[in-house]
Amino acid sequence: MMNSVLIVEDEKHLAEGLRFNLEVEGYQVRIAGDGETALSLLTGNPDQFDAVILDVMLPGMNGFEVAADLRLAGQYVPILMLTARNRPEDVLKGFEAGADDYLPKPFELAILIARLHGLLRRREWLNRSRGAQSNNTENNKDAAGAFTFSGKTIDFNQLELKSFGRTIKLTLMEADLLKYLIKNKGQTVSRKSILENVWGLHEDTDTRAIDNFIVRLRRYIEEDPSNPRHLLTIRGIGYRFVPEEV
Ligand code: CA
Repeated sequence: MMNSVLIVEDEKHLAEGLRFNLEVEGYQVRIAGDGETALSLLTGNPDQFDAVILDVMLPGMNGFEVAADLRLAGQYVPILMLTARNRPEDVLKGFEAGADDYLPKPFELAILIARLHGLLRRREWLNRSRGAQSNNTENNKDAAGAFTFSGKTIDFNQLELKSFGRTIKLTLMEADLLKYLIKNKGQTVSRKSILENVWGLHEDTDTRAIDNFIVRLRRYIEEDPSNPRHLLTIRGIGYRFVPEEV
């Protein structure tokens, strides 16, 4: 099936150029020139788009506000955010707003397409596991897509975390990071290995983005996030996930 992408960008030449190139790659593409239009398109018909390329710099609402509003509205379409180079704080703000990945402008088309493929692959995997789940018994479902620890359950199929009586919706990136930490439970993982294995980044990216994610995950799973029992900081190295409280 043809993947459908929404480009949210007010610079017409850039948006049109992207559309042309993505159509050549076999995508169905629509352009929104501002955040308000994008929001009404995305919340009006939530399954219309498979991914969003969202520029930060927009007239009216900026890209951070659009992403945050989408997540608030329960819209979890994968978002690739276009940020300004030399503004690492934009990356943090983008992830905080609920973006799944980012790319600094100006970017190379091949890199944008690779990142988009990455997001869509994760989404497809998610949809497939949802389909498989409906054919499985309850036991298999648990074995396939959920992880329970210390009274909390992460459902990787539904991208939901049940913790302290709350149900929290996870972004793809949050779910991927949790999955990676769980896979390496009891072991220390470095920020660099998280960058490479979760983000797929080999370049020298600001590792504060990871710390920011860890802070968010702690708010989800820790009784006292300032005194973590599951998601421990290993000074000078990285992090360690411990399923049972220490
Ligand atoms: Ca723009």
